[in-house]
Amino acid sequence: MKLNNGLQRVMAPCKKRPMALIVQKFGGTSVGTIERIRHVARWALDSQARGDDIVLVVSAMSGETNRLVELATQLNPIPYSREYDMLIASGEQVAVGLVSLAINTEAEKRGLLKDGSYRSRPLLGHQIGILTDSIFSKARIQEINTTLLRREIAAGVIPVIAGFQGVDPDNNITTLGRGGSDTSAVAIAAALGADDCEIYTDVDGVYTTDPRMCADARKIARISYEEMMELASLGAKVLQIRSVEIAAKYKLPLHVRSSFNSVEGTRVVPQEMLGQAGVMEQVVVAGVAADVGQVKFTLQNLPERPGVAAAIFGPLSASAIVVDVIVQDVPSNGLLTISFTVGKGDHLKARQVLETLKTTFAQMKIVEEADLAKVSIVGVGMQNHPGVASKMFTLLAEKSISIKLITTSEIKVSCLIDAAQAKAAVECLHRGFELHRVE
Ligand code: ASP
Ligand code: MG
Repeated sequence: MKLNNGLQRVMAPCKKRPMALIVQKFGGTSVGTIERIRHVARWALDSQARGDDIVLVVSAMSGETNRLVELATQLNPIPYSREYDMLIASGEQVAVGLVSLAINTEAEKRGLLKDGSYRSRPLLGHQIGILTDSIFSKARIQEINTTLLRREIAAGVIPVIAGFQGVDPDNNITTLGRGGSDTSAVAIAAALGADDCEIYTDVDGVYTTDPRMCADARKIARISYEEMMELASLGAKVLQIRSVEIAAKYKLPLHVRSSFNSVEGTRVVPQEMLGQAGVMEQVVVAGVAADVGQVKFTLQNLPERPGVAAAIFGPLSASAIVVDVIVQDVPSNGLLTISFTVGKGDHLKARQVLETLKTTFAQMKIVEEADLAKVSIVGVGMQNHPGVASKMFTLLAEKSISIKLITTSEIKVSCLIDAAQAKAAVECLHRGFELHRVE
């Protein structure tokens, strides 16, 4: 084929990307104002115009869920759960109404609406059939009916689904726990067999550590589900942990990115998809986390006999106290010492429970240490790299930071230290494991 300028045009085979189904989740700040909502509408329509099927999941406008929680607690500090979930689920109803309105308005402006048709449809959890169990405020999704969604998608409609909510077998509105819209999005993406699930937020992605703690923090390009789960459970709030668990189960790729720019964010992917630039180059540590606000209890003079640990941790868990690190010393003279940590929110409640145990263990002495922090390094690479833990201990020692407790898993090492030294610890570990060079 000759072009006008006489140059031979090379006929490249047409490389049109096959159509994909993409679930886009927008968090509270991304729909926080009418201007942001207009932006979401344009973004969704632009994405669709590139040839993909788009499904939106949205959170309540920022601050709204907190406001609703506040209202409930004014009436009753421990609100009845059915009413509470009904109430706090309502922020998402407002958001989907507005977002869908914005999409249809923009679609009309673009001349996309033909006589009475619509380009977007707002949907609540119960309208679709997002079925959950009946555990109010931390309900788990059991099943998602995709019939209505598939019909709308096939007709070129963008469903705008309320995150965070579902319906139980008794027709009660339930919610999935704070931050639960992430989980809604991932579960919907899994149910639809989506190709990608994009989580839009107000940060550029997942960072190697908390940028407020360490100026060297870098955005991570790719991270495995396993690492992301560890970081989320250590307090990185960018994704609800449950959403990562579901993504891992279905091997659904997640893309955590900002709705305030179009910069590539962080891809959360199966371990085998992490860069394999030769084992030597593999990142050993992906991130450093710090959880300040830990309290350590040490129980001394416990008798050495079967059932002691059960007698202690049973009542603690019955009081819904989450115990973190547990260490049991080698007994000496028939006496045992057990140490463990709890979050500072559970400090007083834990003390109360332990005091009641003195009737069972008359000799028991309780020692408490507050204002502690747990600093952790996380990375799948440490599974095949010896010496990672000892390097961590050396780095902390060089800064004269003493370690009170240590725990490890296959892909994590955590040390309990003084909270006052947390920032210094994060900085030296971040440097020491060369995370400032990531990307
Ligand atoms: N609106 C809910 C919350 O604030 C759910 C979410 O944002 O993911 O927790
Ligand atoms: Mg969130």
